[in-house]
Amino acid sequence: MNQEFTVAKFGGTSVADHAAMSRCADIIAADSHVRIVVVSASAGVTNHLVALCQTGLSNEERQAHIDGVIAIQLNIIECLSLDADLAHGFDTTLNDFKHSASHSTQNVPLTNVQRDELLSFGERLSSYLFTQVLRDKGVASSRFDVRSVLKTDSQFGKAQPDITQTRIRAQAELVPLLSEQVVVTQGFIGSDEYGETTTLGRGGSDYSAALLAEACGASNIHIWTDVIGIYSTDPRLCNKARPIAHLTFDEAAEMATFGAKVLHPATILPAARSGIGVFVGSSQDPQGGGTWIEKVPSSELIAGVRAVTQRKNQLLLTLKSPEMLLASGFLARVFTILSEYKISVDLVTTSEISVAVTLDNAPNASRPELDQEALERLGEFCHVSVETNLALVALIGSEIQLRQSELNLMRVLSGFDIRLICHGASKHNLCFLVEQGQSDQVVQAIHQQLLEQA
Ligand code: ADP
Ligand code: ASP
Ligand code: MG
Repeated sequence: MNQEFTVAKFGGTSVADHAAMSRCADIIAADSHVRIVVVSASAGVTNHLVALCQTGLSNEERQAHIDGVIAIQLNIIECLSLDADLAHGFDTTLNDFKHSASHSTQNVPLTNVQRDELLSFGERLSSYLFTQVLRDKGVASSRFDVRSVLKTDSQFGKAQPDITQTRIRAQAELVPLLSEQVVVTQGFIGSDEYGETTTLGRGGSDYSAALLAEACGASNIHIWTDVIGIYSTDPRLCNKARPIAHLTFDEAAEMATFGAKVLHPATILPAARSGIGVFVGSSQDPQGGGTWIEKVPSSELIAGVRAVTQRKNQLLLTLKSPEMLLASGFLARVFTILSEYKISVDLVTTSEISVAVTLDNAPNASRPELDQEALERLGEFCHVSVETNLALVALIGSEIQLRQSELNLMRVLSGFDIRLICHGASKHNLCFLVEQGQSDQVVQAIHQQLLEQA
């Protein structure tokens, strides 16, 4: 492709039914720069698929989830007449889904390979239907199986992309198609070196769009969702939350990392690495504006707190050792063990004889359970305590310093039980842990105090 082009991604609610898909197709038809379209599963489908991966479902429960997936497809297909190529692929994929879902009839847990295969059907199905909706609007388009280009490692459920392989394959197999037509492909899924289907983690379609944009050399990524941009906090939690017109890559990356569900945490990495601008807007209100995320010269940075986020299900691990007094190597020993067990740490604070780290214990985290064996290894040389039911609240912005407005924060927080505070390593965030039951209130209070003035 010689000309500049855009990758557009449409999330689950944007492709929930025929009317929603039709609005998205209008957006694409009106913007000739859009050459690659990445779609999520229709809203609700991936939740059914996740449920089907569980053991211990009754036959009725299992059938209800299978029927749920099928009903969402049929509801859309009722409004369409599929072209022969799409009809054949769709029917085959729907049959494969029914076959895969039947594996879960035994009360034996699915293997990781079977699990990711089953989870992939939502995007595989929605992409057939979306292609037809686009063709019905007169847009020349074809469906492309992203698994032939988006290559990953074999960490099923949380696969890491192979950037080089993905670029080589995308340049060879995907880019040549773009001059003739719009290519509709799947978010969330990829394949490993053995050709097994992998998934990038819940919400991973945003990341897919950014990876494909980087691999194909796109100049923009448009993320179409159900809100008109990235807000100062989750608009569902706070009705005074406001969309932010411009964010830097760093600010957006920190927001995504620390819980703003509107973007998958890794989305900004490829965009920032390759200088690709990201727009976030609402497919229900495409004229309603949105957020642009791009590189901002330091002279134009808006200093201070711009947003507040939260991430629930955090775990605090405190390791205490008298050996730490004047002893070197304690931290190295602790972090070596954490890395051996692939335990990824977020916040860290230390005192003279202890170190406290927070871990993401969310059900969709890469490592949902803290490994018992890791705890035993740590317990050999220090006292270990584990606290749960915590939420990580993060103030996000640029050049965050403890000026008067941020100090007001302490007054806001005085009524709450704050477990740990972290600030200083990055000027983009100030984070703390609170009891999970209080975190919504804490976010609302901070938003009111720091982000609703004037
Ligand atoms: P999609 O299915 O399009 O990927 P998601 O549900 O993953 O959409 O993300 C959009 C949702 O993210 C919004 O409906 C909103 O509730 C939530 N959200 C959380 N934090 C923020 C924020 N700071 N700004 C905007 N939306 C947010
Ligand atoms: N369908 C997947 C999910 O619901 C991926 C995505 O929508 O981004 O998590
Ligand atoms: Mg999402």
